[in-house]
Amino acid sequence: MSKHSMTTDAISGEQLHQLIAELYPIMRSITGPGVRESLARLQALAPVEIRGIPSGTPVLDWTVPEEWHFRHAFIEDPDGQRLVDTNNSHLHVVNFSVPVDATLTREELLPHLHTLPEQPASIPYRTTYYADQWGFCLSQQTLDKMGPGPFTVRIDAERKPGVLNYGELFIPGKSTREILVSTHICHPQLANDNLSGMVLAAALAGWLSAHTPELSWRFVFVPGTIGAISWLASNQTVLSNIIGGLVITGLGDNSPFHWKQTREGTQWIDRLMAQCLQETLPNKHRILPFTPYGYDERQYCSPGFKLPVGRLSRNVHGTFPEYHTSADDLDFVTPAGLEQSLALLKRIAESCNNDIVYQNLAPHGEPQLGRRGLYSALGANTDPGKLQMSMLWLLNQSDGETSLSTIAGKSGISMQELDEAARLLQQHQLLTPLRHAASGPDESTGKQGNTQSLRAPR
Ligand code: ZN
Repeated sequence: MSKHSMTTDAISGEQLHQLIAELYPIMRSITGPGVRESLARLQALAPVEIRGIPSGTPVLDWTVPEEWHFRHAFIEDPDGQRLVDTNNSHLHVVNFSVPVDATLTREELLPHLHTLPEQPASIPYRTTYYADQWGFCLSQQTLDKMGPGPFTVRIDAERKPGVLNYGELFIPGKSTREILVSTHICHPQLANDNLSGMVLAAALAGWLSAHTPELSWRFVFVPGTIGAISWLASNQTVLSNIIGGLVITGLGDNSPFHWKQTREGTQWIDRLMAQCLQETLPNKHRILPFTPYGYDERQYCSPGFKLPVGRLSRNVHGTFPEYHTSADDLDFVTPAGLEQSLALLKRIAESCNNDIVYQNLAPHGEPQLGRRGLYSALGANTDPGKLQMSMLWLLNQSDGETSLSTIAGKSGISMQELDEAARLLQQHQLLTPLRHAASGPDESTGKQGNTQSLRAPR
């Protein structure tokens, strides 16, 4: 707790960018000291707990791998010139490579070299987690300058038993129902994918943990795939509490936001996210259907778990040239992009917490608002103000079955404004909260693409 030092209420895009710059040079992988050091640094934003599962532990259909300890790797030409050196970029070594110490001709070395001929100045990012191989990544420009050799090739690294680390922070709310926020932490020296997700998840967690939220929130910081699988394998008892979740990744640049829907596409979190994005960034975002390819939503949405988890990112992986290359650097992510993403995440969190189904306590006819000082004394020819319209919508729709997000969708009034009006109506005993939107029968919301009514007609 003592490391939880930055003031998360006022955390700026500059501060988030600074933390990304501190994390950028740390060599991360799915296991090893870089993961531990990175998680420890996130504790500046939120009291993330670091957990470990021993190598060799069976987890679902997988086994927890050994730790990867990397020190240095290079390729040296016959004149002793270092052509490729991980001191310049950690992307130069294929992540999780087995060690090598050899002298090889160009022909012998070529099968171990990876370049991007279409982007000749960039270094690609490659991994070999589950095969005993080794390799180097370099720019096509560097490869084009390499002579016949022979080359001195060295990877000083080892795989050894240890633990797989992940970070977790549970923020207990007034309700035991949980929102899961998951981000991967295994990429070395790539800024948007996924240092942006790591620092934004931690910043959101720090902000939420300053007060007791309505819902409980669980943040997990996991190495991609194997980390999510390890977390799922060891946390099956909490899964039934999860009413919605977001995998967050690639949120540090300035491209449009994308919500990738849950496996079903019709979950409460899908409707909530569509409403939130429409309110904050109308026509500047996209909703994508679920596909079984991508990030850890694949694990959460596997048929044995079917968790209502989707993914929030800006531009989608694989669709922009910087993706998984050395061009995903500290210039690709911007303080402004990070700050806008954090503002959106806070708004999403508030909307999740505030999506309540209310009951009108004076449902027969309109209650007399003027008598209670809630109706402006303006003449009949003047349009009622936003607050007044919010109250009228809430009173009319709060039949004990309609949630705040649904009323927002129907009325065009934001959930924030409706929430303010709902608090006012509660003070005057005209409205009472019944339940959270995600805890009862699904509402039929044809407007948001859910054509099938899940509630029996009466
Ligand atoms: Zn990635």
